[in-house]
Amino acid sequence: MSAIYLDNNATTRIAPEVLEEMMPYLSDMYGNPSSMHTFGGQLHRRIEEARAKVASLINAEPEEIIFTSCGTESDNTAIMSAVESLPRKKHVITTRVEHPAVLNFCQHLARKGYRVTYLPVNNQGQLDTNVLLKEIDEDTAVVSIMFANNETGVIFPVKEILEILKERGILFHTDAVQAVGKIPIDVKNLPVDMLTLSGHKIHAPKGVGALYVRKGTRFNPYIIGGHQEKGRRAGTENVASIIALGRASELAARNLSEEIKYLSALRDRLEDTLLKCCPDVRVNGDRNSRLPNTTNISFEYVEGEAILLRLNEYEICASSGSACTSGSLEPSHVLRAMGVPYTAVHGSIRFSLSRYNTEAEIDRVIEVMPLIIRELRLLSPYGREKIVCPPE
Ligand code: PLP
Repeated sequence: MSAIYLDNNATTRIAPEVLEEMMPYLSDMYGNPSSMHTFGGQLHRRIEEARAKVASLINAEPEEIIFTSCGTESDNTAIMSAVESLPRKKHVITTRVEHPAVLNFCQHLARKGYRVTYLPVNNQGQLDTNVLLKEIDEDTAVVSIMFANNETGVIFPVKEILEILKERGILFHTDAVQAVGKIPIDVKNLPVDMLTLSGHKIHAPKGVGALYVRKGTRFNPYIIGGHQEKGRRAGTENVASIIALGRASELAARNLSEEIKYLSALRDRLEDTLLKCCPDVRVNGDRNSRLPNTTNISFEYVEGEAILLRLNEYEICASSGSACTSGSLEPSHVLRAMGVPYTAVHGSIRFSLSRYNTEAEIDRVIEVMPLIIRELRLLSPYGREKIVCPPE
């Protein structure tokens, strides 16, 4: 068995169909879509086809899709565009559990003099929309709240948020990088003003993303230069990756309901078995409102990094709730915002699945994980005292 890849919220494998479709545009078809000659100009049509496919995945209109270089660029662009559209308003609302693409951009705005409110979440990782209601004021320009959390998979109540913001003249952006292609999203039913998506989370390559901008929303480009993307995002198009994103969107839309069933069944089996086999284990995040592919599990009294290293020896890839930043173990800001106890934050592991995972792979993880936890706890002074090891 080759490596078991359960880190799909970090990035995904490029789907073979996607790779096949994009390859000619990395070799023979290398023209510039803005050229007058057919060699380049014909690519323009292919970009428009990809735009229609991406739009269709979220039930948008093709002209509402702007191609970007990644989810981060889309997030930065959306928030910057919103504050520039409403120059007299200086207040931005977001949450404490956003991805750094939003969180750090908001901190950047705070340094420039904007007032930023970071909404809390409860111990299930859920947002209380009443708190949002209390924080809104005349000065609020934009609310940016993620659709689903990358660490826990918790899905936010976007419909309720939109109800609150309705007719208040406040722009709403959602970072849907982890949600698009994993759960149904229909921007006609959920009238967000802007929505971010990213290619490498849906089996397209890294370095391509899109920003949905609702027709009629005031928009200010962030990258300024040539006339590409109708002047909304300058820079010669990443043709091959845009075509790949179109194909990946088409595949995601085609199999969405089957994939949701398949992935949630695999994920639940993994989660339920680990809860049964390993003592002192908890699931982080609201189990009733989660992405179908994600589980975030804390194994008390062991270090997440140690679990990852042991998993790595078995060629199992996952990620932990603490990121190794500049040599120090920084506990996850998401789990901390949820009030997860310190010992549980440090022992947290995120498993995130994709359509390419199999039952046999999950069986292997179920077999290996209790052994690793038992072994690590025997090494830990806390673990030795506190836990009853599962039978061998
Ligand atoms: N937003 C969320 C929720 C993410 O999970 C990520 C990537 O992990 C991003 C934004 C950034 O996307 P990209 O890597 O395409 O810049």
